[in-house]
Amino acid sequence: MTSTESAEGPGLAERLERMRAGIADAARRADREPDDLTLIVVTKFHPASLVRELSALGVRDVGENRHQEAQAKAEELSDLDLRWHFVGQLQTKKARQAARYAHAIHSIDRERLVDALADGDREIDAFVQINLTDDPGRGGAAPDEIEALAERVLESPTLRLRGVMAVAPIEEEPARAFARLRGYSDRVRTLAPNATAISAGMTHDYAEAIAEGATHLRIGTAITGKRPEHG
Ligand SMILES: *Cc1c(COP(=O)(O)O)cnc(C)c1O
Repeated sequence: MTSTESAEGPGLAERLERMRAGIADAARRADREPDDLTLIVVTKFHPASLVRELSALGVRDVGENRHQEAQAKAEELSDLDLRWHFVGQLQTKKARQAARYAHAIHSIDRERLVDALADGDREIDAFVQINLTDDPGRGGAAPDEIEALAERVLESPTLRLRGVMAVAPIEEEPARAFARLRGYSDRVRTLAPNATAISAGMTHDYAEAIAEGATHLRIGTAITGKRPEHG
């Protein structure tokens, strides 16, 4: 054990550094520029103090998946220059509130949510979330709903369509699932040539996501450490 490591292993700065190096490696292997990738550190269940530490380490993009928790942290940390990415299921009745702090919403999965977000006064980056499983209970729109949903976002006065988002199914090779996502991204780009973003890749599958064109990586545990106990 070195002096910078505790009994629990490397600290936050080192875990962040290792992840940045891992992302740069995966980018080079895929013949891509690390600068074209956005690292979003998912801080759900961790206290605002950890987000503050991350900010001091140069992190600008943070992700949350529960509205109340995200709202409270965004408020507490409003002195920092952070971009809040909402990556979880968003209830229609919470949409308006989320629109006040969210820089981006990665979980646009139904037209009603698009409509609920339409009357805010800030522009928000929107990612259409696609369900890569056959289970309609998982998050995301079904692949046959992609075009209608993307069109709806394009008509919205407040949402700016950036691209697609997905979580790899547990029961499938991530590389195969992300290859399918890339095809869905192509479909969205036929409607909206500027919607080139692909939000994909988490702690255990970010390299596969990068190989399949991911532009926005949502990384939690590898950087933040294990999430505190929650119910
Ligand atoms: C929690 C979460 C992540 C980060 O997951 P890790 O495996 O901890 O990296 C990414 N995306 C979504 C939608 C999440 O809910």
